[in-house]
Amino acid sequence: VMVEGMSQFVRALAFAAEKHRGQRRKDVAASPYINHPIALADVLVNEGGVFDATVLCAAVLHDTIEDTETTPDELARHFGERIAGIVMEVTDDKALPKDERKTRQVTHAPYLSSEAKLVKLADKICNLRDILAAPPAGWSGARKRAYFDWAAQVIAGVRGAHPGLESLFDGLLARTAELD
Ligand code: NDP
Ligand code: ZN
Repeated sequence: VMVEGMSQFVRALAFAAEKHRGQRRKDVAASPYINHPIALADVLVNEGGVFDATVLCAAVLHDTIEDTETTPDELARHFGERIAGIVMEVTDDKALPKDERKTRQVTHAPYLSSEAKLVKLADKICNLRDILAAPPAGWSGARKRAYFDWAAQVIAGVRGAHPGLESLFDGLLARTAELD
């Protein structure tokens, strides 16, 4: 199980790197996009003690459907229905207006699978850390605080999924005074 999990995880990393090639994060340095999916896996394994290959693969693939041409069917063919399903659970419906998408994340969070809740927790931990250390270019203090408030509402819906990661998230939330 270990070896197959590792093999599948490295395939997922390579797949995500190829799909996100050419994309950048929104920070001033325009960091390579793939740093973000890798950061989720790092948080899950090294801070959360999560070694479930299904969760780790879904974490590195979590933005492929939302932000690249990748289709759910393509993910299912390469990684199976379970991993594709978790990625779909954490994928926003881009047909909806932005505000509606933000509201949906809050209302749907309690109904996510336990695996998708772990991905969601890691995603929000990584984005709060990025906003503290390397925020999107041009964001005001008010905009950063609005993001922290929204992320807190999303994570309220997944509480109980992983108390350790929730504590990490709470530690970041407590740093809003640093936002300017
Ligand atoms: P988002 O709030 O969606 O941008 C944040 C997202 O960008 C993150 O969730 C993350 O998504 C990704 N991201 C990329 N780089 C970084 C980084 N360095 N740090 C953190 N996150 C990063 O911004 P949008 O421009 O899409 O705006 C959408 C919403 O913002 C609307 O609802 C709008 O109403 C609101 N808004 C609020 C303002 C305010 O002052 N309060 C002003 C203007 C708009 P991922 O993990 O998926 O990559
Ligand atoms: Zn993300």
